[in-house]
Amino acid sequence: MTMLRTIIWFVVAIAAMLGAVWLAERPGSVTAEFRGWRLDTSFGVLMIAVVVLILIGIAGWLLYRWIVGAPGALLDGWGESRRRRGYRELTQGLAAVAAGDGVEAQKHARKAEQLLSEPALTLLLSAQAAQLNGDRDGARRAFSAMLDDDQMAFLGLRGLIGQSLRDGDQAQALAYAERAFRLRPQTPWVVHSLFDMQAQGGQWKAAQETLEAGIRRKVVTADKGRTLKALLEVERSREAEREGRASDALALAREAFGLAPERIAVTQRLAELQLKSGDSKKAMKTIERGWSVAPHPDLVALYLESSGETEALKRVGIVRRLAQQNPGDIESHLALAQASLEAGLWGEARRHLETASGTNPSTRVCRLMAEVEERAHTGPEKVREWLGRAADAPADRAWRCTSCGAHHEAWRPVCESCGAFGTLQWRAPGTYGQILPPEATPGLALPTSSPGSGLPVPAANNTTS
Ligand SMILES: [Zn+2]
Repeated sequence: MTMLRTIIWFVVAIAAMLGAVWLAERPGSVTAEFRGWRLDTSFGVLMIAVVVLILIGIAGWLLYRWIVGAPGALLDGWGESRRRRGYRELTQGLAAVAAGDGVEAQKHARKAEQLLSEPALTLLLSAQAAQLNGDRDGARRAFSAMLDDDQMAFLGLRGLIGQSLRDGDQAQALAYAERAFRLRPQTPWVVHSLFDMQAQGGQWKAAQETLEAGIRRKVVTADKGRTLKALLEVERSREAEREGRASDALALAREAFGLAPERIAVTQRLAELQLKSGDSKKAMKTIERGWSVAPHPDLVALYLESSGETEALKRVGIVRRLAQQNPGDIESHLALAQASLEAGLWGEARRHLETASGTNPSTRVCRLMAEVEERAHTGPEKVREWLGRAADAPADRAWRCTSCGAHHEAWRPVCESCGAFGTLQWRAPGTYGQILPPEATPGLALPTSSPGSGLPVPAANNTTS
């Protein structure tokens, strides 16, 4: 286009020149006067002079444009090709990371770093390549350098949190997580990581603030948030008690119980504190309410302690009162079996165990049966039979982490295996265990014995008592 225009211009100029020459050969004169100067010439010569001046002007302008524009255009072209090569290296490097080839990735990262002027982009590649090669310092350097760039800071923090956790530096990981939370409090992994780290560090109050921010931003569902808040309050209640703030401890436990009575640890905490403050009646009421939604052997012990009853036969009646709150649950039968056993009521104990076990008695049922037979002196072969069955029996309910499945001997706020908070629940592996068969099941007649127990008891078993 530019070329064509130049040619047209030259054609026009030549035509003008020829025209001027033609004019110059013709007679005719021009006289110009300017402040005492006087010019006499022919019209043709004047025209030639004007055209030449115009051509010189155009040539000068083009020359100026070329001189000024050339270096920039040259640099632009060069920079463009550099950037293209840089992006190619970056792409190949990321592909190498995805393929797990650290050495190759590092090679491309180094080249991309030289070619590209945006260091933030290549830093991510360098960090990932270093991680693949096991170069912790290199990865940390690259992630730290990303913190200076607003766009990449969050990504850098994520890398640094992971790196610190792998190095076992909890405090540093927590500091990075707090920073990431300030940058993007709506990002789920940030909320969850920060919450778990704070809980692992026993920073219950801080964890509660993180949780509440998470609930506000809908990162944590309201239902899950309610349970977690209750469990945090249980821990804060323990902390308050240790610090001698008894009324705070009780208030926190009461609030927690209002939020999540279905969590055994919550029921236990409130009942413990009520018992300690001398209000055993309230403690028993709390345990009864807790038992109706989430029974657990520890609650039986606390209930009996609250009752103050020491006489074995009367204790059976007290356990029966608790069991009535949740008559269908296996824990109710096991609690009654245990209390009956301690009172020497072998038949009663057997009946409850048989009701609890259904067709496939669990380890706990088999062991209790063995104990009943041993104390009832029915013969060593019966005891051996039950102990043998206990070895192959299906697993019982236990404290299991709902996040990683790890088994724990006692309840604790943070899973020892995966570090999650509030995930331990009293349940059987995979299933809900040996829950009572439905009432219509053949072979199971419904209660005629055990006055006041309210529990379904197979009548056929009365013969063994
Ligand atoms: Zn776990």
